[in-house]
Amino acid sequence: MDDLFPYRRPPFCPHADCDSRVQSTTWRFIKKGFYLRRRRPHRVQKYQCSRCRRYFSSSSFSTRYWLRRPELLEPVFHRLVACSGFRQIAREYGVSHSTIRRLSDRLGRHCLLFHEKRRPGFCPTEPLVLDGFRSFEHSQYWPMDLNLVVGGKSLFVYGFNDAELRRSGTMRPAQALQREILEKRHGRPDPQATRKRVEELLRRVVPPGGSVVLRTDEHQAYPRAIGRLRDRSIVHEQTSSKAPRTTVNPLFPVNLSDMLIRHSSANHKRETIAFSKRRQSALYRLAIWVVWRNYLKDLSENRKRGTPAQALGIATRAVSVREVLARRCFPWRVRSVRGWLGDCYFGRIGTRAIERCVAHEARYAA
Ligand SMILES: [Zn+2]
Repeated sequence: MDDLFPYRRPPFCPHADCDSRVQSTTWRFIKKGFYLRRRRPHRVQKYQCSRCRRYFSSSSFSTRYWLRRPELLEPVFHRLVACSGFRQIAREYGVSHSTIRRLSDRLGRHCLLFHEKRRPGFCPTEPLVLDGFRSFEHSQYWPMDLNLVVGGKSLFVYGFNDAELRRSGTMRPAQALQREILEKRHGRPDPQATRKRVEELLRRVVPPGGSVVLRTDEHQAYPRAIGRLRDRSIVHEQTSSKAPRTTVNPLFPVNLSDMLIRHSSANHKRETIAFSKRRQSALYRLAIWVVWRNYLKDLSENRKRGTPAQALGIATRAVSVREVLARRCFPWRVRSVRGWLGDCYFGRIGTRAIERCVAHEARYAA
């Protein structure tokens, strides 16, 4: 085994439309020689699938598959949760900022699946805390919320999504006019976005028939979202957002997450020039942050109390970035990758101010 091939033998056919996984016991592969590469490992085993007859290699199972600078994946993960901007990271490694953005996107996609495969499939037994983390995309005229559901005891981040918002608050007359011009050109953000996305998030985290206690602030979209989830029993407890944000505040778990996101992500710092130009990019970066927060970062820097995943009982120790990146995850092997999660994985979350948003349509390096 080398770090380009995390398995002893290919466990399944990596092609998206091959049904090798439904017949995993009878599936066979045939060894088909090697190909040579300039970096180590120099020889990579090639295989042929017995079902679809197509070829693949041992490197098809690596997260570094088809990367020109594969050695950057791990350090870029560290930099992205250590508050570096793309250009700052790019300068350190002598590459262009778009290379770092592509690595961030790939890490984000991997982390979306990594979390999706590990998060508990059962209904959470602890109280949940939900809130929108306010940031913006493209310019301050396009604010957005990143909605997070956090465990009230474990501080585990169960899930997240996004909601576009209309710019509000006091504006100078020139700013109000600019907002009008932009909304005429690109359309007005959906006023129902928060209700729709919170509903989607709760559907994902709380399975049908589940019952939970949900703590939120007094945002008026939350009761409307909860009201539409009739097959779940949700006890809604509201706390004013004006209440002091101390450790005894029922919303403390999510307030702490917000602080940590701002502390570790350059794109969400106040008054930054490293803000995300596309919401999709912010979501990929948030996926990386969620994996770091849940599975890598200790609950206490000084007292070492274990990670949120350990507190939840789904892990026995913290994992390293290298371990997170050890095995490539395939979207077609994770059942829940559909709906919003599918859109987010394949880069289909649009930014109004950018008319043609490029989605992730790579056939092989998915
Ligand atoms: Zn196949």
